[in-house]
Amino acid sequence: MIYLDHAAATPVSKKVLEAMEPYFLHDFFNPSAAYLPAKKVNANYEAAKGTIAHAIGAKASDLIITAGATEANNLAFTSIDCVDSRQSLSGQSIKSVLYLETEHDSVRRVAEQYGGEAIRVLPNGLIDLNDFKDKLTDDVELVSVALANNELGTIQPLAEIAAIIREAKLDRLKRGIKTQLLLHSDASQALNLLDINVARLGIDLLTINSAKVYGPKGVGALYVSHEARLKPLTLGGGQENGFRSGTENVPGVIGFAKALEIAKKHLTSNRKKYTTWRKILLAELQGYELVNKKHMLDNFIVLCYNGIDAERLIFLLEEKQVYVSTGAACAASKGVRSHVLKAIGLTDEQIAGSLRISLGETNDESQIHEVARIMNEVVATERKRLENNE
Ligand code: PLP
Repeated sequence: MIYLDHAAATPVSKKVLEAMEPYFLHDFFNPSAAYLPAKKVNANYEAAKGTIAHAIGAKASDLIITAGATEANNLAFTSIDCVDSRQSLSGQSIKSVLYLETEHDSVRRVAEQYGGEAIRVLPNGLIDLNDFKDKLTDDVELVSVALANNELGTIQPLAEIAAIIREAKLDRLKRGIKTQLLLHSDASQALNLLDINVARLGIDLLTINSAKVYGPKGVGALYVSHEARLKPLTLGGGQENGFRSGTENVPGVIGFAKALEIAKKHLTSNRKKYTTWRKILLAELQGYELVNKKHMLDNFIVLCYNGIDAERLIFLLEEKQVYVSTGAACAASKGVRSHVLKAIGLTDEQIAGSLRISLGETNDESQIHEVARIMNEVVATERKRLENNE
């Protein structure tokens, strides 16, 4: 098998599994219990949170552990609920959220519920800063822009976005406008390959995801700066400082921390490796148009085979045990056209012919040559079939 869909899921590494195992078997205690073994588990849980926080330049107390990135994204938007007097005189809720039009559905769907307005992207997938500035009116309370996009891998200029927000805040202050203005970013895809520091980036809320960094699925976290106030999604025992009640997922958090430790150690070498493999693949593949040319994570390759149905290519590749994707796994399974590829201006035909390759730890260089050979063969056969109207 050659797996090229690491943006959708990553396997849990052996070291991560080993770190987690004791917390299933022996150290299974509820961290809130009063006896000593439970207190030890609690201490290890907090230490693991510290490791996760350290990876983004934060402290354990700044994190709320969640069951993945979807929940963290939903939680981030509760910062809107904490603002008083949110209703206009007519009783309708006022526009208050901006989000990038290429966001993952777990941001898009929530933003839409809050009456959010989409910021446009340029044909290269980067935020249209002029459109952003135009839409950043005095009533905007939250801006959500993913650090790296999950279909194209496009890395957004977050520091620049944060600087624009800082300027807008100062300007509001001068004019006596007290509306909050927060920046949220979903860093699910970026955590593995970018050196993230929340203070340096100027971010108030940051979503991270264990499932994309060779940690267990169903674990994530929201970083919350001192500026942001949230409303809990769940009420109960008061865990995670009252913002996320429910018994802590100790093995999950231990695994997430271990996975991040490993990822940070190999960050530079992995980036180099993926850049080399990307170059090899692009040189050896034939008859494609490259969709994501610049400003992307090193492991993302989006190709367009004009006139060919990528869904069919994926099926034919699967027969040869090569696994790629047409884009976001959730959208792909529902047969929905990618809103991301549409946003960068691809035609319906181009979207239909596009597929995403995301390289990762399960690959090696010999697989890259092998994939190029198999893909060229499959594409050539498919083109011939289409020519013959079969
Ligand atoms: N955000 C981004 C950018 C993602 O790529 C994903 C996963 O595909 C998610 C959010 C959702 O993550 P989860 O399924 O862990 O909740």
